[in-house]
Amino acid sequence: MYPVTRIFRSFQGEGHFVGYPMTFVRLAGCSVRDCHIRAVCDEAPWKATRSCTADEIIAQCVQLAPTGIVCVTGGEPSDHDLTALVDRLNSARFRVHVETSGIRALPGLPVEWLTVSPKTPGYAHRTGNTLKLVVPSSWGWREIDELDRETTFFHRYLQPLTDPTGATNISHVMNLLLDARNSDGRWALSTQAHKTWGIP
Ligand code: SF4
Repeated sequence: MYPVTRIFRSFQGEGHFVGYPMTFVRLAGCSVRDCHIRAVCDEAPWKATRSCTADEIIAQCVQLAPTGIVCVTGGEPSDHDLTALVDRLNSARFRVHVETSGIRALPGLPVEWLTVSPKTPGYAHRTGNTLKLVVPSSWGWREIDELDRETTFFHRYLQPLTDPTGATNISHVMNLLLDARNSDGRWALSTQAHKTWGIP
C-alpha cells in the first residue's frame, strides 16, 4: 500500500520538462530530517489522505489520462518501495518520472526520467537525468560543488528558494549562473513556473 496525498493532472513547472502536462502522484511523508529547506517546505499539507495499492493508483492515473507522463513525487517517494508502483506504471505504458531527494540509492529503477534534488551533502543516489538544487541565499559555489561531487547527471539546474510569502531569491541564483564559474553553461535556471501560472 502507498500513502497517497493527491493524484492530479497539471503541468510540470520545474526542471527539464517545464510546460509538459503530466499526472502527478504525490506520496505522503518525508524522512529527510536534515533537509536545508524543511522550514519552508510545503510538505505539511502532504499528509496521506488514503492508502492505495499500486493498481488503485494506476486506475486513477488512467482515469485522468490514459497515456503520457506520470510523475511520482512526494514528500520523499523513496520512503516507500517504489518497485511495484513503477513496474505497474510501465506495464500500463505510462512514461514514468520520479523526483527524489536521493536519500536512498535506487539502482536500476526503470523510469524514463529521474530527477534528484538533494537536501544533504551525503545523499546516496548521485546519478540520473537531472540534478536540481534549491539554493538558499547563503549558498555559493562551494555548497553547490559539494552537492555535485562525484555525480553523473545529464542536466543540472539551480532553483531559487521561495519563502512562505511567495518571494524568491532569484537574483541571487541568476548571479551565480552568470558567474564565470558557470561560463561553460553546465548549470541552468529552474523556477517554480507553475506558481506563476496559478496551478498546483
Ligand atoms: S526533502 Fe523535500 S519533502 Fe522532505 S522536507 Fe525537504 S523539501 Fe520537504
